[in-house]
Amino acid sequence: MSRTGDLVVAVWPLAGFDKLLHYKVPQKLVDGMLPGVLVQVPILRQQRGAVVREVDVIPDVPVARLKYVSAIVHPHPVLTPDLVRLAEWMSAYYAASREAVIEAMIPAPVRRGVGAKIEKYLALAAPPDADALEKLARKAPKQHALLVFLKQQTRPVKKGLVLTRLGVSAQACATLVARGWIREDARVATRVAYADDFGGHEIAGQKPITLNAEQAAAAGAIQDALASGKFSVQLLCGVTGSGKTEVYLDAMQAALAGGGSVIFLVPEVALTPQTVGRLRARFAQHGLHDVVVWHSHLSDGERLDAWDALASGRARIVVGARSAVFAPVPDLRLVIVDEEHEPAYKQDETPRYHGRDVAVYRAMLARAVCVLGSATPSVESWVNATSGKYGLLRLTKRVDDRKLPLIHIVDMRKEILKRKGATTVSDVLAEKLRVRFELKEQSILFINRRGYSSSMVCRVCGYVAECDHCSIAMTYHRTDETLKCHLCGEQRAAPVRCPECGSPEVRWRGLGTQKVEEIVKRILPAARVVRIDADAMSQKNRMRELLSEFRLGKIDVLVGTQMIGKGLDFPNVTLVGLVDADLSLHVPDFRANERTFQLMVQVAGRAGRGDRAGEVVVQTFTPHSMPIQYGRQAEVDGFLTEEIKVREAHQYPPFRHLVLQLFRGPNAEKVAYFAEHWARRVTELAGDVVEIRGPAPCPVEKIKDHYRFQVWYFTPAVTKFVARLEKLRSEFPLPDDVFTVLDVDPTSVT
Ligand code: ADP
Ligand code: ZN
Ligand code: ZN
Repeated sequence: MSRTGDLVVAVWPLAGFDKLLHYKVPQKLVDGMLPGVLVQVPILRQQRGAVVREVDVIPDVPVARLKYVSAIVHPHPVLTPDLVRLAEWMSAYYAASREAVIEAMIPAPVRRGVGAKIEKYLALAAPPDADALEKLARKAPKQHALLVFLKQQTRPVKKGLVLTRLGVSAQACATLVARGWIREDARVATRVAYADDFGGHEIAGQKPITLNAEQAAAAGAIQDALASGKFSVQLLCGVTGSGKTEVYLDAMQAALAGGGSVIFLVPEVALTPQTVGRLRARFAQHGLHDVVVWHSHLSDGERLDAWDALASGRARIVVGARSAVFAPVPDLRLVIVDEEHEPAYKQDETPRYHGRDVAVYRAMLARAVCVLGSATPSVESWVNATSGKYGLLRLTKRVDDRKLPLIHIVDMRKEILKRKGATTVSDVLAEKLRVRFELKEQSILFINRRGYSSSMVCRVCGYVAECDHCSIAMTYHRTDETLKCHLCGEQRAAPVRCPECGSPEVRWRGLGTQKVEEIVKRILPAARVVRIDADAMSQKNRMRELLSEFRLGKIDVLVGTQMIGKGLDFPNVTLVGLVDADLSLHVPDFRANERTFQLMVQVAGRAGRGDRAGEVVVQTFTPHSMPIQYGRQAEVDGFLTEEIKVREAHQYPPFRHLVLQLFRGPNAEKVAYFAEHWARRVTELAGDVVEIRGPAPCPVEKIKDHYRFQVWYFTPAVTKFVARLEKLRSEFPLPDDVFTVLDVDPTSVT
């Protein structure tokens, strides 16, 4: 159908309007006007960014009244068609404004329209014959000189450089271009060439690897899925060190060979230099494919280049943390989510999306294959895999039949009786640290830092005070000597003695990395002990230096939170200690069992990856508890089966969705009052589709002088419920000093 008059587009503005706007397209921009392109449009006399949602629409106002699009900001769409639809879904599902979603999808330098640095190149096109050349030499010697110079070159040369060197004017050059003798190309100048300094020295031995039978079976299944051209999700459940990464690499190769692009998500890029190194060794080093590493330390310019490499299809592999799921790659065929169980995939600010879930949804929209990998799959993914919704691929053995390390459980209740008082490092762990140090082997101690509130744990019998209604640990409040449930609000006086055994040792306090570091230094005065904490994590180089020193054997004992455990492969580490396995059992979170189990198995996986057998020491006050018992044998199936029963009994996720609503403000009574009212209102109007608990104070009751309360909703139909909630919200005005936030599928409570 031919169009008379102006082409009209519908755009999503990036500033403050949560609705589509219409614009006309001037003739010169018609060609580049594709869905997903970032444009500039006039809004209220200002130029604003906007993303083209639809091209060639019929607006509901006369076309003559519309304004024109001012400019196209980038030649490549900032959102591919699947991303446009993904944005719509995320906005509805996570109750986030479309603008917030788009901002999360498009990196700031791209949004701001900072143009890529373009450099011009010259090359010979169709040179004139000898006669014309001779004539040129007489009449325009400068033009002649340029032509001769270009004739001698084997590749295009930078325009600026050549003109300056030969003293040729831009005008003379333009004449030659106009006559068709030479040609001018514009190319994007690459800054650090998105092949940053990651890895490099980290690249592991590159002898070709032959997949073992289990790996080959898993890789074959993924290749079949890719070849089918249909969307599917494959859960790759493989014990630590079973060679999952090799399976990913094989799948990537297949996807690339089929002309597709690949997104590879990891929980934290700074902690996976080895994985990046292996990707580069496999794909980038032979000039096959550029690997773009997408991480938080990129400068604006680097980010723009990396993004442009992906959007233009020059690079077809991106590895990064959760936001890499939005890479604007064309022909997405494969999305890999490594360590899919990791809470780090959840973004804790608006839009509060879960990187893994978004990866699955995007793969569906792009008809790609999504591979979720883990040694300790999340309950959610496991339920999907065992119900047949996802494929289940398993690697049951470590590569070369290396043994899983021995796990010693140290009963800290006995340690306390023995030492007659509190203790941090048990005799067993201290002794093993000494032995490893003498053997010149390395140790890592993990501290579980998920605990932030004190719960009630008896140090003698291991009793944990739990809420009768919610089966989560209650929180101990020193100020008024009470126990509170932060899910339903139940409250009771804190016992002075343990209700089970009568011991007065019922109060528990958390540990810091610093304290543990001090204690280890006292045990091993001659050892080099280093702590990795949040500070080191935020400094790109510091973190790398420490890990590299550790690898080179310059550090004997590394102390840190579980974050340092991820994906690291240190062959010389033979002892791993988990100082406080319990902590996650005692935070008010229905995922506490899952976290404890995962932590134990993952941490144990760090020991004995080289030729020497490894050993793991887990200290706990609750050695009898379910996750610790299963964790000890790394029994994934057994643990998940038990845990799913618990979740089902309480109808916790994944049996229903959980939505958390936070209320906060400087005036505690006011916040509580409105939260109360609101909860009552929701019960009246949506009580049929949702179970409501609370309001209750948040586990962290006050942050930055704002008092915090939460309401929990359990619902089988999350999208419907969220839509209803949003509507209610627009009809329920809150005062200026009471704020509220929705978190759909929250993964932690604070
Ligand atoms: P995972 O990701 O499951 O923890 P990796 O993929 O990191 O395991 O593999 C662990 C180690 O085993 C790596 O050093 C890897 O190079 C090596 N490896 C993997 N597969 C094989 C294989 N088929 N043959 C020999 N070595 C292998
Ligand atoms: Zn007790
Ligand atoms: Zn409760």
